[in-house]
Amino acid sequence: MKDKIISQFNVPEEIESFIDKMLLIDEQKLISKMEDKMYSKNDLKQLVSELIDIDSENFIASCYKRCILNKVIEENEVLYVLSDSYQRLGVFAQFEQDIWEGIDGDIRKRVDEWYVNEYAKKSIEKIEKGNDREQSNIENAYFISLEEALDLIDKKESSIYLLPCNCKTMAKNCNKPQNVCVQFETGINSMIDRGWGVKISKDEAKELIRNANKSGLMHSSECESALCNCDACCCYPIRASKILGMEKQWPKKIHEISWNKEKCISCGKCSKICNFGAFTIENKVVSFNNEKCWGCTICKDNCPTNAIKLKF
Ligand code: SF4
Ligand code: SF4
Ligand code: SF4
Repeated sequence: MKDKIISQFNVPEEIESFIDKMLLIDEQKLISKMEDKMYSKNDLKQLVSELIDIDSENFIASCYKRCILNKVIEENEVLYVLSDSYQRLGVFAQFEQDIWEGIDGDIRKRVDEWYVNEYAKKSIEKIEKGNDREQSNIENAYFISLEEALDLIDKKESSIYLLPCNCKTMAKNCNKPQNVCVQFETGINSMIDRGWGVKISKDEAKELIRNANKSGLMHSSECESALCNCDACCCYPIRASKILGMEKQWPKKIHEISWNKEKCISCGKCSKICNFGAFTIENKVVSFNNEKCWGCTICKDNCPTNAIKLKF
C-alpha cells in the first residue's frame, strides 16, 4: 500500500518518513484505491463503503477538510479528486502543530526547503500572468500600509475569518505571532469552505492587524481575498520571491518611504523592526538603504518621532 500512496499522493522522499503521521490509516486506504479521475459523491461513497467500515458521508467531509480530497465543479456538480502531499502538508502543519513539532528538526528543515522551492516553482505561472494591484493572480501580491489594511477591513462586506499562519507554523523560524492570517475567500477548496477558520468581527480584525504591525509583521493582500501579516524569515511568498529574483516585484513595492534625519533620535526601533535590513544602526548612527527597502511601511508606524513618512 505504501508504494501506491507515494505515487498517488505525490509523496517526495522528504515527507516519506512521517507520512503515517500526516495520513490516518483509513485515508491511506482510500488514497491507495483512488484513481486519477473525478468522482461524483455517490461513486466516492461507494468506494469508501467497499474499503472502510465508516460513515462514508462524514469520512468524505473529513477528507476534504484535512486536504486529502479537493473539489472540482463540473456542469454545476461538485466532484472530488485526490489532493497531494504538498497541499496536505500545509494543513497538517497548520492544524496539527503538536505532531508537526514532534518530527525531528532536521527532517522539518529539509521539508521546509523542499516546500519553499516547490512553492516558488508553482508560482512562476501565476507571476507571468501579471501582478497589477487591480488584477493580481498571486498570493501576497503587494504590500499595503497599516492605514490601507484597516481601510480594507472597514470596507469589507463579506465575513472575516482568522486562521493560524501556515508559513510560520510550518517554517518556525521566529517567535512572532502566528494567529494572524485574515481570510475573506470562501469558495471551493478555500480553507473556510473546508471548515477551518474562526469568524471575527471588524474590530477584532483591526486590533489584530495593529498588534501584528507592532510585532514587526508586514501587511500584504491580493485582490482582497486575504490580508496577510508576514515576516520575511518564514513567509513562503517572500522567500519564494527571493529564490525567483522577484524582490520588490512580489509582494510588489507600491510605497516609497522618506526618512527625515533631523527628526531621528537614534532609538533603533526601525532597524529592529525592518525585515530586510534597510534600516541599520551602529554606534548610535542610523542609516537607511532604499535599495534594500521593499516598501512594507511598518517602520513608519513604529517610529516614535514621525521621522519616517510615506513619500506619497
Ligand atoms: S503569507 Fe504571511 S500571513 Fe499568510 S500564511 Fe504566509 S506568512 Fe502567514
Ligand atoms: S525609529 Fe525613527 S527615531 Fe528611531 S532610529 Fe528609526 S528613524 Fe530614528
Ligand atoms: S525600511 Fe522599507 S522594508 Fe524596512 S520596514 Fe521600512 S518600509 Fe519596510
